[in-house]
Amino acid sequence: MSITLDQRMAQTGTRFLIFPQPRYLPFFEEPEVVYVSVPPQEIQPGPADDRMYVVDAVNKQPYSFFSQPPYRGPANPPIMPGPDGHFDHLDVNNREFSCATMYATVRRVLDIWEDYFGRRIEWHFRLNYQRLELIPLITWDNAQSGYGFLEFGYGRTPAGGIDRTRPYCQNFDVLAHELGHSIIFAEVGTPNINANTDEYGGFHESAGDLVAMISSLHFNKLVERLLENTKGNLFTTNELNRIGELSENRQIRELFNYEKMSTVSQEPHELSLPLTGAIFDVFVEVFQRELVQAGLISEELARRSFHAPDENEDDDAIQAEFTTAYSGKEEQFKDALFRARDYLGAVLAEAWNQLSANNLTYARVGLQLMNSDVTISGGEYQNVIRDCFAWREISLPANSVAFQIRRLDDCGLMSYH
Ligand SMILES: [Zn+2]
Repeated sequence: MSITLDQRMAQTGTRFLIFPQPRYLPFFEEPEVVYVSVPPQEIQPGPADDRMYVVDAVNKQPYSFFSQPPYRGPANPPIMPGPDGHFDHLDVNNREFSCATMYATVRRVLDIWEDYFGRRIEWHFRLNYQRLELIPLITWDNAQSGYGFLEFGYGRTPAGGIDRTRPYCQNFDVLAHELGHSIIFAEVGTPNINANTDEYGGFHESAGDLVAMISSLHFNKLVERLLENTKGNLFTTNELNRIGELSENRQIRELFNYEKMSTVSQEPHELSLPLTGAIFDVFVEVFQRELVQAGLISEELARRSFHAPDENEDDDAIQAEFTTAYSGKEEQFKDALFRARDYLGAVLAEAWNQLSANNLTYARVGLQLMNSDVTISGGEYQNVIRDCFAWREISLPANSVAFQIRRLDDCGLMSYH
């Protein structure tokens, strides 16, 4: 979502509190105020609106093949807004806050992505359900998303068992990732039975992580801390790399990774890593291009800081140059980061709009990103996308007919005299 649209929403939208990262992590103990697009006069108790509603179910078993929405069992009363129509008055230690923040997170991520798509994203389950059902706190050490619902429990303690201090519904990355699956179902669709691929599964997981990353880059505090820690050198391990942060050194997946197609299995989460890594690299390259164009770093520094392992013997020197460049230019670095974020959001939305789920391969994703880059930037990043996908060994399959060489006699065009 563009900065100007975000500012406009602050005039008309409804206020909520969200923790950008889990509150048990240092620096993120305080929530941030965010606005969702629905104005106070249209938001209903729950909270609820025309796209989604919260039900604070009590003693509910997780949905299964045999039980589906809508939930009709016992539930706590819907959460009411404060006297001004906003929801930022709730005590963050109360159950009511969990209900409100789950709604706000899903609504905010939907707002962000509808802006990148430039239109409404229709639910893929709309044939059966009008609205998405959100269930924030069931007694379960897990969370799940399914046809028409998101239902969340709690994290696990190291010894196993439910950790009630860590409700998943307060984990922005986890919720955004799950909504990312819904966006892919809605926009790319599902493959026919005989046209499903392992890479479709990996692509889904990758898209969930990218939706979470791009959405989290809309938190001012997260962006400032990211830049403060890295001084703009994003090809380093930092908080942006981690999705579904569980503790300071434990996270569900890493966006920044060194995996290639030859180093991962076909298991969807593992298989997602080369694709996510390639697209993350594109993002950082675009950010660096923005920095170079704004005169904030040299072309030479951008080139030297490409992330491949063992190719940089002068990591410390690179970091020192970024630190010097960043000092006193914090706002300009932030603007460049927002431009790179919005490029990536727009190019992904355009690509997902065009991609077909049938026989999906990473090579097709790469080709489509190149097409979409022409639409979004006039083709400025063709070489960047090509290089980043090549580094991950994403290419057409070796037996593709595209690799066949045709000679003139194969084409019946040979001249014999
Ligand atoms: Zn997933």
